[in-house]
Amino acid sequence: MGPKRAEALARLGIRTVADLLYHVPHRYLDATTVTPLARAEVGREVTCVGRVVRTGILPTRRGLRVFRAVLKDDSGLLECAWPGRPFLERQIKEGQLLLVTGPVRYYHGRQIVPQEFIVLADAADDGDEHLGRGLVLPVYPATEGLTHRQIRALVHRHLDGLLPLVADPHPPAFREAHGLIELRRALAVLHRPREVAETEPGRRRLAFDEFFDQQLVQARARHLAKRARAGIRFELKRALTTRLKEHLPFELTADQRHAVREITEDMTAPLRMHRLLMGDVGTGKTVVALFAMLLAAENDYQAAMMAPTELLAEQHGATLTRLLEPLDIRPELLLGRMTAAGKAAARERIAGGGARLVVGTHALIQESVTFRRLGLAVIDEQHRFGVEQRAALAEKGDAPDVLLLTATPIPRSLALTLYGDLDVTQIRERPPGRGEVKTALRTDEARHKIYEFIRGECAAGRQAYVIYPVIEESERADVKAASTMAATLAQTFPELRVGLVHGRMKAEERDATMRGFRDNAVHVLVATSVIEVGIDVANATVMLIEHAERFGLAQLHQLRGRVGRGAAASHCILLSNVPEAAPRLEAFCETTDGFEIAELDLKERGMGELVGARQSGGVPLRFANLETDLALLEAARHAAGAIIARDPALQRPEHAAYRERIVARYERGFELFRVG
Ligand code: ADP
Ligand code: MG
Repeated sequence: MGPKRAEALARLGIRTVADLLYHVPHRYLDATTVTPLARAEVGREVTCVGRVVRTGILPTRRGLRVFRAVLKDDSGLLECAWPGRPFLERQIKEGQLLLVTGPVRYYHGRQIVPQEFIVLADAADDGDEHLGRGLVLPVYPATEGLTHRQIRALVHRHLDGLLPLVADPHPPAFREAHGLIELRRALAVLHRPREVAETEPGRRRLAFDEFFDQQLVQARARHLAKRARAGIRFELKRALTTRLKEHLPFELTADQRHAVREITEDMTAPLRMHRLLMGDVGTGKTVVALFAMLLAAENDYQAAMMAPTELLAEQHGATLTRLLEPLDIRPELLLGRMTAAGKAAARERIAGGGARLVVGTHALIQESVTFRRLGLAVIDEQHRFGVEQRAALAEKGDAPDVLLLTATPIPRSLALTLYGDLDVTQIRERPPGRGEVKTALRTDEARHKIYEFIRGECAAGRQAYVIYPVIEESERADVKAASTMAATLAQTFPELRVGLVHGRMKAEERDATMRGFRDNAVHVLVATSVIEVGIDVANATVMLIEHAERFGLAQLHQLRGRVGRGAAASHCILLSNVPEAAPRLEAFCETTDGFEIAELDLKERGMGELVGARQSGGVPLRFANLETDLALLEAARHAAGAIIARDPALQRPEHAAYRERIVARYERGFELFRVG
């Protein structure tokens, strides 16, 4: 192969014949996917194939030049129009067999406006006419200087020679157990299917392998992490933990009990715990963490909980104090805003070991803080901390167990790829006795009614949030909008106290207003979205979100989670005047399940590549789809876990092929599977 062509292939990631084999078509054309020209209906999106019988450039009245081509097939003619792209004249020529995809509109007749076109064959060659004869035409991802036809020709010339060289790393029994077709066959059907339906088992096979390799890497990483850090083996003494259970003012939900059980199992095992507890806002993660903390305490260890803000730490302090009162234990608080003397005294009790349960902010990871015997580090809202900060807390002890809490639910598929080297526990169930949160979408027309509604709720002793979006590039203007709004609302509600918090404020000022809201001295809190209103104000029953269309669904869900924390019914009102945004906002109104919303959110933003790539050591997912292949991912994860459990470094001869593949494809592969 010449250097020019080699370079073009390299641009597509093709450097070896194996790469070429794995460069599979991104779509297939056959009689079922191609619409006959005569049947391309106005208003539909269609894919058509036809010979170019005429081309030309037509100026429009507004001065736009439109390139046009007329296509012909057995059924008839159809015009294609490319507004503003006269230069296509150089690419699209009479006699070519052209594929076009796009919507059909009516403009002096039926006309397709292609979003995509592919030259399937030149005037001289008619090799691709087989489409009309019921055959399948594979279409390959192409690049500049290398058309999809050239790639197809290359693959087809060599396919029969290359396939026999392909060795399947999975033994037949394994393939059978997972319903996978043979690798050689998978590649054959992908490149040369007899019908399009044949290709799915091929894709599924490659998708499985992709997940499987990734999960082998993660299982290995998990294995090494655990082995490298033998942990504390706590004993289940059932002293403090049992007493807490007896004195709890509520029953744990089934999910909470399950979480406590999983954490207890981790902590009583000799390996170090590294667990993520994931649950929507209000699902009661704090009390689960408290059980873990008491398990450490009854083993004569200390436990620390770190929260990202003063207010949250204070809140945890108050919660723990309340729950621990019957047990005669007082948690120690360490906050940035405490007096120097207060801090010094707290640090002394922490260093001396008198303080068994410690709650604090970043203050906990300062150098001046030492623990006598830290056995458990709990990190709340873990995503708000950097990796080093989380590690810094753990380093205050000698390999303490680590429990991370997060209220940002993510779909399981993503959790497995993202947090593959963590163990994950989910809490989905909400404690009973919570008021329902009704969500509604409104336009500006309803503003007056909404205000009256807020007035009524506040008159009944309730409180309300009003949230403004902040877009980074116009932060100043957005903050101004929020400030203006706060002033307007203060006028609208002369009988109420209206507070304002935003990200450009000093932390003390912000905390003072938030405290006022917590204590019901402020009734309506106007906030920009940069403020994560991470506090638990059970008395707040209204969440009004302005310009709701500017928020992601997951973000809206976080905001909504701020209400509905007490027994009273609550309301989340989305204000939006953008009709295009209505469908997604309506979908949001329909559900309160954080995991479902996380799925919607990811679909909206399009997941996959990005996250997958980051996590699997630089290998993006090409064949697998995180949205639809969850079952396949679970199967691959399970299979990979079982193999690493039996053969952690993949040293057995029957695993040599797995090992080779990973070492070749993953950046971390070599390091992870180094012998020894
Ligand atoms: P989050 O998971 O958002 O951190 P919290 O731990 O702050 O939730 O819990 C929210 C509220 O629910 C707290 O006031 C807590 O006391 C209460 N709570 C937790 N578990 C239960 C339960 N099983 N039954 C009733 N209330 C509960
Ligand atoms: Mg919490």
